[in-house]
Amino acid sequence: MKELKVSAINKGTVIDHIPAGRGLKVLEILNLPKDSTILVAVNVRSGKLGRKDIIKVEGKILNEEEVNKIALIAPSATVNIIENWEVVEKRKVEIPNEIIGIIKCANPNCITHYEEVTPKFKVVSRKPLKLKCHYCERTMEEDTVLKHLL
Ligand SMILES: [Zn+2]
Repeated sequence: MKELKVSAINKGTVIDHIPAGRGLKVLEILNLPKDSTILVAVNVRSGKLGRKDIIKVEGKILNEEEVNKIALIAPSATVNIIENWEVVEKRKVEIPNEIIGIIKCANPNCITHYEEVTPKFKVVSRKPLKLKCHYCERTMEEDTVLKHLL
């Protein structure tokens, strides 16, 4: 079987090594413009992870901020920037120090559920993942975080 070529687009961004089954969620979080050309491959065979999902965004180079939004659900992802059919840059996804939007607070009494404020979390720990709400100081761990994705 021929291997799927990562660089098979002229220009754009390829997000590789997304845990299998999370590709569509990643796409949702990236919230790309409606007219974007996007290719999604799910359950692709991969030596390292068993199965993985891959997303290719044609014609658009995603910036670091955009890419880091997916770190919470796909920390193992790698980002390849493609120009003229070649990978010109390889990046690792990094969980930022602060998460704005993307997830909602697990505390039902938190002000973010009642007022027009964007949820904001401080990253207390990356491994294991631990976030602290900026408003009510509730701490959330990975499984809670994944259940509260917006
Ligand atoms: Zn809160």
